[in-house]
Amino acid sequence: MNFDDYRGIWIYIEVKDGQIAPVSLELLGAGRMLADKRKTELAGVLIGSGVKTLAPILFQYGADVVYVYDDPIFEHYRTEPYMRALLDCCHKHKPEVILYGATPSGKDLASAIATDLPTGLTADTTILDIEEDTGLLLASRPAFGGNIMATILCKKYRPQMATVRPKVMKSLPPDPSRTGRVIEEHIELHEEEMRTKVLQIVRETAKKVRIDEADIVVAGGKGMGSKEGFQLIHQLAEVLGGAVGASRDVVEAGWIDHHHQVGQTGVTVTPKIYFAIGISGAIQHVVGMQNSELIIAINKDPNAPIFQSCHYGIVGDAFEIVPLLIERLKEEIP
Ligand code: FAD
Repeated sequence: MNFDDYRGIWIYIEVKDGQIAPVSLELLGAGRMLADKRKTELAGVLIGSGVKTLAPILFQYGADVVYVYDDPIFEHYRTEPYMRALLDCCHKHKPEVILYGATPSGKDLASAIATDLPTGLTADTTILDIEEDTGLLLASRPAFGGNIMATILCKKYRPQMATVRPKVMKSLPPDPSRTGRVIEEHIELHEEEMRTKVLQIVRETAKKVRIDEADIVVAGGKGMGSKEGFQLIHQLAEVLGGAVGASRDVVEAGWIDHHHQVGQTGVTVTPKIYFAIGISGAIQHVVGMQNSELIIAINKDPNAPIFQSCHYGIVGDAFEIVPLLIERLKEEIP
């Protein structure tokens, strides 16, 4: 394998309901930094049906080139056709790096590509860098239960690949004056040869909790004592118009479902305000909320590690403080 044949930083662009997934724009921001360091091009790979019109948005967010596979066969995400398109693109244009959102389809596609090429894949990367001279991708992520950060290298294969969770990287401010090259690609795929068919899309009727999109997250931990005690967290979130977050121990106790779990094995959040109430501040929790703009912790133990990771800390009993907060906020917020 001649590494000199492999050039360019690629981002797999995820499209859902005709919209580019925010994580893909965030990855363009990270990819731009890598491409500039490596003095190479940043490309988006856009696969879908009727998606060509989205290419200008990708240029605005940092892409120099967009490879487009636009065909009705790509209407809904399915491993096989998407994998065949991306493999086709890889074989033709040989990227040095490919980044994917760590979303259900991003993870699915990345692992299928890694197996087929074959090459390495670092999952849930939180820090990305690249060696300017060798092009070696430095993909760092928490390891050993979050106790250390490991930097994972792919020294023997190309492309180098990583998935990154939503909200971990920052997108660039869009620049409407930026343009780039659209390269239309085509691969011969026939519906009758596909092993999976999308028969029906069933949308969730219940309002899905998106704690990763909320401006305010009120998170509670085991310190809330019981499912009944945890209701205080719901009440504070309601007064503030925020979403409810939780530690893993709360989820495991069955007080709330996994969608609400913040941390290494839950969701990464970056709200404007994050409340950590009755949460000890274990590293596995902190990695999921440490980039919040303002972190307020309430804990009755003055030595709780959460006080090392917050901007404001209140030492005291949540059952005294939270009702007072709710009362006061109700007066302030009509
Ligand atoms: P505890 O550690 O029991 O802390 C409860 C806190 O509440 C204490 O600090 C206590 O002082 C305080 N308290 C008690 N009563 C009150 C009161 N009345 N008022 C105020 N404060 C009070 N955890 C996550 O959260 N997210 C993850 O994604 C995650 N992933 C993990 C992955 C791995 C591989 C491993 C090994 C662990 C993971 N964990 C995760 C678990 C993590 O290590 C901690 O065990 C967990 O975060 C602790 O939850 P907690 O803070 O709610 O509970």
